[in-house]
Amino acid sequence: MITSFVFLIASVLFIVGIKLLASPKTARQGNLIAGLGMALALLAVLPQLHNSHGESVSLWKWFLILVGIVLGLVIGAAGAYKVKMTSMPQMVALFNGAGGGAAALVAAIEFAHLTSDSSLKFVISMLCAALIGAVSLSGSIIAFLKLEGRFEKPVTYPAQQLLNGLLFVVSLLLALAMASGSHSMALMILFLVIALALGVLMVMPIGGADMPVVISLLNSFTGLAVAADGFAIDNIAMIIAGTLVGSSGTLLTLAMCKAMNRPVTNVLFSAFGKVDATTSTAAAATGSVKSVQADEAALLLGMASRVVIVPGYGLAVAQAQHQVRQLADELAKKGVEVSFAIHPVAGRMPGHMNVLLAEADVPYDQLIEMESINPEMERVDVCLVIGANDVVNPAAHEDKTSPIYGMPIIEAEKAGTVIVMKRSMGKGFAGIENALFLRDNCRMLFGDAKTSLQELVTLVKDG
Ligand code: NDP
Repeated sequence: MITSFVFLIASVLFIVGIKLLASPKTARQGNLIAGLGMALALLAVLPQLHNSHGESVSLWKWFLILVGIVLGLVIGAAGAYKVKMTSMPQMVALFNGAGGGAAALVAAIEFAHLTSDSSLKFVISMLCAALIGAVSLSGSIIAFLKLEGRFEKPVTYPAQQLLNGLLFVVSLLLALAMASGSHSMALMILFLVIALALGVLMVMPIGGADMPVVISLLNSFTGLAVAADGFAIDNIAMIIAGTLVGSSGTLLTLAMCKAMNRPVTNVLFSAFGKVDATTSTAAAATGSVKSVQADEAALLLGMASRVVIVPGYGLAVAQAQHQVRQLADELAKKGVEVSFAIHPVAGRMPGHMNVLLAEADVPYDQLIEMESINPEMERVDVCLVIGANDVVNPAAHEDKTSPIYGMPIIEAEKAGTVIVMKRSMGKGFAGIENALFLRDNCRMLFGDAKTSLQELVTLVKDG
């Protein structure tokens, strides 16, 4: 009774935590509250531990449990403290894989306790947890390796989907055999090996840059595996926490795909980012590249009444978040109204730009979502695009042949003057040309974003 009550409180804390994660202002608080919920759930489960005969566990087992908890705490805390902001997706992939693996292990251990009296609900839940958890574990490891740049390119071969489908059917047949009374551990091990192979084969054909979407999807898999474990062992906290992770992961995956205007199937089954640029009419756009020097750019910025900064992936690569904050501060001192336009999929993970700018203590009220800034764009004197490319590409609403056609963008081209800071005419994630760079009102400030921003800060300060 007390345990169920504590589980309920823990579940409420998870829900409040997730709700608070929705805004950068409250995200830290949300993390703490959800962590508190997890600690409560852990404390509630400890007095329940018993061996298979219903007796309390031995001292040796208590010691092992303690070692597990301490190890988990140390690895989690050290990982979170040490990880670089740009490596956050890798960390999420690893932690998510660990969750999936743990769910599969719980299921495999429960399988060893199967008896002829075990209910069908128990068996089905456990098999689902084993299958989904193992897919999530191996898929997340491949996603981690791809994000680390070990083999970013999509690995494709003939009859790929057929092989995946075949493996899935074999795993279903094995599950059927186990559900109908075949309790051999060898079958379970084979089932887990096939599930692990499925996870690897599902993620290998997807391009490295699509990994954030894949991780979000695998995250929802882990949630479902944990919920299935919860059903098997009648643990309400696992059912609620798993369902929350499963549903929020699914919603995030769909939101990311919507913001990229790509169906989930396109992310999973097409090697995106390898588009032939010549298929897009943007590649044939007319106009010429007009470059600008830092002193002229500083003059344009200093004379403006309103400046909107559009940060993108290149800002994260250059790690120039502190320099952009300094530039915004210097411009504000001169009476220029400065705001940051945030595209939902700028960078390489959801909320990437929010996190990056928060690191430099950019005030939250300066961050404006794409939907709110676009109607204002025509009244903006200078739009400063820093390391962004696809999220300001007008092909998204002008060129029906473009792979990003239909993706909502920040309408930078509508500003009086656009200054684009990047190192070259290099393409972005989608691998296509950007006609914005050739527009009459666009000026290119070539160079690494950090170096160029440092120069701009000095020039605006002295100007
Ligand atoms: P892009 O990937 O379109 O463009 C980034 C640009 O940054 C490049 O063109 C590059 O040009 C420039 N750049 C790189 N390094 C530097 C540097 N050191 N200094 C200055 N510029 C630099 O980024 P966007 O943010 O515009 O778009 C994000 C893309 O990622 C979208 O297509 C989105 O769909 C996709 N995506 C986003 C996810 C998310 O969750 N946020 C998940 C998966 C995909 P150059 O080489 O010339 O410098």
